[in-house]
Amino acid sequence: MPEIMTDLTVPDLTMAERERILAKSALFDPPGVALADGRRDLIGLSRAELAAELAAIGEPAFRAKQLWHWIYHQGATDFSRMSSIARPLQEKLAEKFVIARPEVATEQTSADNTRKFLFRFRDGQEAETVYIPDRMEDRGAVCISSQVGCTLSCRFCHTGTQTLVRNLGAAEIVGQFMAARDAYGEWPSPKGETPRLLSTIVLMGMGEPLYNYANVAKAMHIVMDNEGISLSRRRITLSTSGVVPMMDRAGAELGINLAVSLHAVRDDLRDELVPLNRKYPIAELIAACRRYPAASNARRITFEYVMLRGVNDSEADARELVRLIAGIPAKVNLIPFNPWPGSAYQTSTRPAIARFARIVNDAGFASPVRDPRGRDILAACGQLRTDSRRARPAA
Ligand code: SAH
Ligand code: SF4
Repeated sequence: MPEIMTDLTVPDLTMAERERILAKSALFDPPGVALADGRRDLIGLSRAELAAELAAIGEPAFRAKQLWHWIYHQGATDFSRMSSIARPLQEKLAEKFVIARPEVATEQTSADNTRKFLFRFRDGQEAETVYIPDRMEDRGAVCISSQVGCTLSCRFCHTGTQTLVRNLGAAEIVGQFMAARDAYGEWPSPKGETPRLLSTIVLMGMGEPLYNYANVAKAMHIVMDNEGISLSRRRITLSTSGVVPMMDRAGAELGINLAVSLHAVRDDLRDELVPLNRKYPIAELIAACRRYPAASNARRITFEYVMLRGVNDSEADARELVRLIAGIPAKVNLIPFNPWPGSAYQTSTRPAIARFARIVNDAGFASPVRDPRGRDILAACGQLRTDSRRARPAA
């Protein structure tokens, strides 16, 4: 009897919890898309919204398709360069709309060629984006932020020391990728599986993407659209600290790869390192991973595990990890802790990392040790932070 009751009530509870998360997230939504002069930014609109904007100025539906191609395939930002559109219409569009990018406030390049951008958005708030080129081939990952700051405060993470300022809008999320591609001159969008320099997106920058699901999902639909940027869902990975009620939804609607910031295998320790664990403990998190639809042998779930010296790096931890994830098509990314000003942990020793990796690998899970990239410019995992603050509400 109790078991049946649980089975019946869990979906309702999950749905209610999901609604609560979405409602709370909306409180942190970005300002609207209109500029001070009244023009509207076309970036970040869905195809239907773009068509509606054009219909409002009397343009037929095929214009939306045409503009989509110019904006997201060609990377055009200037209506006057859209050669398939007649001059009078170009001028009319320029009066009503813009195709904007976030402003590059600063740009730094690491000794290992990792590049970090500090982007400033229209309201002056800032977030960081990192491009990590592959060491061997002409491709690389763009690490994108989903929020300015973060509500969660994982103990080892620099972003966690910055309170949540606001969510990034779909335009700002897509805009980070588009502006990074501007910097590398990678327009028009390479077709299909053709190698590209900016070849994958990892939602692993500042913020918790599943606490800004609506904007993240909209942005990912835009980058996946096959008449534009056309990035395959297999080339996109969303990392979450474990917002369980939103994981199923992301899996069903987006089908992108999932990375889970596990970092500890016992609830007492994970409660401390990743405080969200108090709400969604390890057993619930692992159950959500088992349900994740895009997990198959070809597309495994990535478990991220930060290696903290003497904290979570014992052989017993490694054996418990293997037991927890048994049967899940998974790999385990071991991330040597990246220090930041004021951080309280040390990176595990090389032998400790090697022992840990061996145990995980022997159990049949790939266990690559993440090569720290861009540490010298504070661009590595968990080192991002900006000076943006939340304006105090008026007294
Ligand atoms: N908020 C999401 C996305 C951030 S991804 C999440 O937490 O999953 C960034 C990854 O780097 C996460 O796995 C995060 O736990 C990890 N990380 C945070 N601080 C780190 C640090 N100082 N050193 C190494 N990895 C860190
Ligand atoms: Fe937020 Fe992720 Fe950093 Fe935790 S690790 S504080 S969830 S950005």
